[in-house]
Amino acid sequence: MTVTRLLIIGPPGAGKGTQAAKIAETYEIPAISTGDIFRANIKGGTELGQRVQAIIESGELVPDTLTNEIVQDRLLQEDAAAGFLLDGYPRNVEQVEALDGMLEGDSLDAVVLLEADTDEVVARLLKRAETEGRADDTEDVIRHRQDVYAQQTEPLIELFTKRGILVSVDGLGGIDEVADRISSALSAQLGR
Ligand code: ADP
Repeated sequence: MTVTRLLIIGPPGAGKGTQAAKIAETYEIPAISTGDIFRANIKGGTELGQRVQAIIESGELVPDTLTNEIVQDRLLQEDAAAGFLLDGYPRNVEQVEALDGMLEGDSLDAVVLLEADTDEVVARLLKRAETEGRADDTEDVIRHRQDVYAQQTEPLIELFTKRGILVSVDGLGGIDEVADRISSALSAQLGR
């Protein structure tokens, strides 16, 4: 069985969720978004949801121990045996180390970096706020999420570049146009 382990990273508002769904379909693997898992728990009023709600609404990161545990459980589910596409995790160096541990010597096959500049992503998120009403899509929180990304997540770009698995894609343009770019870049990297 071919196992495909992927990650998509990029600033909040770059369009990771939209593109993740397409990539997951192509490679027949589940897209696993920590943000979606947290939001589903908040919506469902679970204990986890109650623990993370205020943190998420402030734009801070949920504590690593909690996030790592959730991802570990998710990766052990049957549908992840063929691989997975992570979206929103790992988000800092500690989480990369935790993921390395979970994969037990296997490693990610490719990391797609979806690039978009700050003004563009802030504008997109403010627009999304009008239609989706996400609690963390207010202007202040959006700015804070960009800062958290710059400080904690951007360092991963160099880390994955050094591992030789980073593929950068311009996230500016129509959904299908960006999807095509990702698709060519990924098949070049993966050889499939
Ligand atoms: P975005 O990329 O637009 O910020 P996400 O859905 O990926 O949206 O994340 C929303 C929020 O969920 C984050 O701001 C953070 O509070 C929390 N979160 C998601 N993934 C993680 C993670 N890997 N570690 C810690 N917190 C996370």
